[in-house]
Amino acid sequence: MSPDSEQPNPLIAGYHSSVAYAYPENHARAIIKTVAYHRKDFDLEVIWFPAHTPSDAASSLAADHQKPTASLGELDKLPLELIINICWQLDIESLFRFRQVNARGQQIVNTLHEYRVIIKYALNVFLALLRTRKTPSVTLEEFYSLLCTQECSVCGKYGNLVYLPTWVRCCSSCLHSNSPATNTTSLGSVKRLLSLSQDALQNFPRFKTLPGIYGTTESSYKHRIICVPTQHVIAAYEKGYNEKPILSCFSPPHQKYALDFKACCVLPVYNPQNRQVEYGVSCAGCEVFLQDVVSRLHQKWAFVARDMVYSHSEYLEHFAWCEQAQLLWEESAHGMREPEGLPMSCKRGGFFERCSSC
Ligand SMILES: [Zn+2]
Ligand SMILES: [Zn+2]
Repeated sequence: MSPDSEQPNPLIAGYHSSVAYAYPENHARAIIKTVAYHRKDFDLEVIWFPAHTPSDAASSLAADHQKPTASLGELDKLPLELIINICWQLDIESLFRFRQVNARGQQIVNTLHEYRVIIKYALNVFLALLRTRKTPSVTLEEFYSLLCTQECSVCGKYGNLVYLPTWVRCCSSCLHSNSPATNTTSLGSVKRLLSLSQDALQNFPRFKTLPGIYGTTESSYKHRIICVPTQHVIAAYEKGYNEKPILSCFSPPHQKYALDFKACCVLPVYNPQNRQVEYGVSCAGCEVFLQDVVSRLHQKWAFVARDMVYSHSEYLEHFAWCEQAQLLWEESAHGMREPEGLPMSCKRGGFFERCSSC
């Protein structure tokens, strides 16, 4: 098969192949498994919970612990279909509380397909919503809908993250490039530096950061602060004063940048048609290119290419033109062995300052 992927423009000699790489369709999965890899470092620079937490929490959040002996009182007089519709519209915290009422509440919530999918594949985000006390809150319907959405709301490519304050998908590339859509500011700075009305302050979407290790520098943060999306602050200021606020005075750039990471969490993409989930992959060939071919030139675009996160179908389109990835694939004897030239960083799942065993 020669994928119908469009020829890149411009075609860069030494990086792109001169023609689209042809391969049998049944090699697609093996190509992804052999020459693409998941960037664990990108997972660990945003909100995450220690490895032992998700499975424990998932089993307790999805299991029926006992047979219901008590009813839900007046609520149980409603048809089950109506109760399920109500659950669908509940925000995650209320749904969590409803499930804790008794075994009957637990049974009803556990039968919701969307709830089970969320607990299975997006537990980190579920826990983050409960712990960051994000407002406005997110309903089960909104959560499931975003889980089934693939595109980054900023660039339109595969979005591997959710930006919690405004509940939109974004991607690591947009987060790293300091996109305005993921800019985050502490509410304390806004109150201190801008004279905004109480109404404006109260209307900002907000959340409370979680202690942890964040950002590309893997810095540790202990204090929790209330944050708001910078775009909303700018809009409110412009409405009140007819000019833009001076944003650089909010907080030191490195601290402000870290807030953007504290506002994001990894959100895989669930496909309801085939019930498959994707976590996003990056290209080992692009890392080889960066190390061996342009290492001394430090071309910024090559770093951007190396740090791209693709859906599986986007990756196959990229592979069709990525010469180094094609060479790795050929070294692997059609995926039968690990290619000799596979960089260590790809085997480890990215670049780590300190917690390589995470
Ligand atoms: Zn993006
Ligand atoms: Zn590549």
